[in-house]
Amino acid sequence: MNTRRDFLQKFTFSALALPLLSFTSSETIANFYKEPYEGPVLRVAIMGLGSYGTRVAEAMQSCKMAKLVGVISGTPSKITDWQAKYNIPAKNCYNYENFDAIKNNKDIDAVYVITPNSLHHDQVIRIAKAGKQVICEKPMAINAKEGQEMIDACTKAKVKLLVGYRMHFEPNTLEVIRMRNEGEFGKVLFFQGLSGFRIGDPTQWRLNKQLSGGGSMMDIGIYSINGARYMIGEDPIWVTAQETKTDPVKFKEGVDETIQFQLGFPGGAVASCLSTYSMSNLDRFFLNGDKGFAEMQPSTGYGPIKGRTHKGELTQPHVTHQTVQMDEMAAIILSGKTPIVAVDGQEALKDLKIIDAIYLAVKTGQKVQLKL
Ligand code: NDP
Repeated sequence: MNTRRDFLQKFTFSALALPLLSFTSSETIANFYKEPYEGPVLRVAIMGLGSYGTRVAEAMQSCKMAKLVGVISGTPSKITDWQAKYNIPAKNCYNYENFDAIKNNKDIDAVYVITPNSLHHDQVIRIAKAGKQVICEKPMAINAKEGQEMIDACTKAKVKLLVGYRMHFEPNTLEVIRMRNEGEFGKVLFFQGLSGFRIGDPTQWRLNKQLSGGGSMMDIGIYSINGARYMIGEDPIWVTAQETKTDPVKFKEGVDETIQFQLGFPGGAVASCLSTYSMSNLDRFFLNGDKGFAEMQPSTGYGPIKGRTHKGELTQPHVTHQTVQMDEMAAIILSGKTPIVAVDGQEALKDLKIIDAIYLAVKTGQKVQLKL
């Protein structure tokens, strides 16, 4: 379990080694968690009390600027359990039929959508219409058209739309980005991203196109897509892709098992990536420049993230990703803070446009040009 004490203990020996978190240039994350905080707090309801929702709720117990205050769920027994565990009042509990009434609840500022992918679109739009800030899990939607509609709805409602890109706040990842920005790798010409795991239960929603919107690409391949962009520091201009399917019974039409894809970047860099539901131990990034390199394995799991560059090991401390993500997102929503790597709807829309293009490239066998 991820208590505040566990969280803080991870910092005790490494407090001074953390100059890079995006809180402010002079304030480290360690200091942030040590010092008392009396500023504003983002009051959050979680929608979808499943595996990841549970992880976020636990991590939020260590947050300083974000607090779990409500739930939206289709399972009454989970609501009762969460009420008891997190001291959530009945007036902050909703189901999928009645949650539009959250509009009248002055004790909830934001809703974090952690449901199956294809449901995000309608749920986010309903939350926006209720006037609440929105945080949505990745993939933000199942295609770029729906993603754009979600952005438009949040813009119209004057609420923020943030997407759960937890790696954008991860210290070793930010250290590699800092090194790249300072030219320590020289001219970057190659990235490799390997993202995959062996998926189990064939009846789960991740293998049901109606709910998942696709297969491994939507779920895990998106880490290599997004990672290629933040590691290289540019947006791609073309994509090519090839699909392999060894089990058409488990991975039905429209549910991709394995896709290899390549992204071309304006500065001349190329990314070569693999997304799969059929191989374990694939969580690796490699970035190569003419003056140096960075390799991370694991690169996007819950951590600790490990890796090295041509200068040695990456030594930033492990942080509970979802704790820092939620505090950072609270700062973005409450005080307009700008993160080092964007986590807004436009950022997520770029990944959705790339996913659309990857599926088109698989279908046509053609190189697809991208305009992000
Ligand atoms: P789970 O299946 O564990 O949980 C999803 C929850 O959504 C369910 O428990 C249920 O909660 C609710 N739900 C509502 N409608 C449905 C439906 N028709 N079918 C199934 N569940 C439904 O999934 P995860 O928690 O693993 O994933 C949820 C989202 O989080 C996905 O978009 C996924 O991509 C993302 N995710 C992100 C991760 C990250 O690291 N950023 C990691 C893992 C997942 P209830 O009973 O309360 O209604």
